[in-house]
Amino acid sequence: MSKSNTISPLSSKHKAPEHHRVKPEQHHRAFHVQPGHCYCPKCGAVGFHKHWYFAPEQEHILRKDKNASQVLCPGCTKIEQQLYEGEVILANSCFSTLSGEIIALIKHTEGVCWHKNPTAKLAGAVEEEETIHVLTTTKFLAERIGKELQKAFKGNLNVKRTEQFVRVYWTD
Ligand SMILES: [Zn+2]
Repeated sequence: MSKSNTISPLSSKHKAPEHHRVKPEQHHRAFHVQPGHCYCPKCGAVGFHKHWYFAPEQEHILRKDKNASQVLCPGCTKIEQQLYEGEVILANSCFSTLSGEIIALIKHTEGVCWHKNPTAKLAGAVEEEETIHVLTTTKFLAERIGKELQKAFKGNLNVKRTEQFVRVYWTD
């Protein structure tokens, strides 16, 4: 009868004197993929019960997990459906010399806004007559980018609002 050796394995843990020690590998096991976890295949955001956040390590684990589901986050869904609500027109002459800093500020502002509202995303940029037009999925994001640009680089803002769309002109 092999059943005779079902001695509770739990009793052995009391013998371990170092059971209070946190082993380094427990650190890596802190994230467990649970039902409800998903990731956005476009931007890599991690979703859990309608809450979205960026966590590169979790994203990495989810991408390797064949059972993890891919779900477009609310912002990427809007981009996919071409539901744009805002536009920032970078018509300030300092753009030509400070484009790197300006783009960095725009991306940073997107991150801050997305954290509060995951439907807020940059939806790309188009160049029209040597002026860059940045599209956003929310009106708030376009206005916020305009304010941040003015705060950091001065210039003027001219905001044209309709019920569905906001256009922010940033000029000298
Ligand atoms: Zn996304």
